[in-house]
Amino acid sequence: MGIFYCDTCHTKFEADGVKTDWIDRTYGPCTRWTASCPDCGEECQLAKTVHAHSDGDDGCEGGSCGCGGSGCSSCGGC
Ligand SMILES: [Zn+2]
Repeated sequence: MGIFYCDTCHTKFEADGVKTDWIDRTYGPCTRWTASCPDCGEECQLAKTVHAHSDGDDGCEGGSCGCGGSGCSSCGGC
């Protein structure tokens, strides 16, 4: 369960979400959560509630992504 943000509707909603894990060739294991918007059905990413950097939506869950910082091709760095 987490808080997700829909870029299409510009609304936040709670959902269980779907966890996606992958191994980045450079930064190792990464994790991302996505959920479908209850209004429009678009795939949404976790709302940023923990960390503050603003360069795009990376979907990192408050620093739990194991990408090791900036430059992760999948999350943008957390
Ligand atoms: Zn939506």
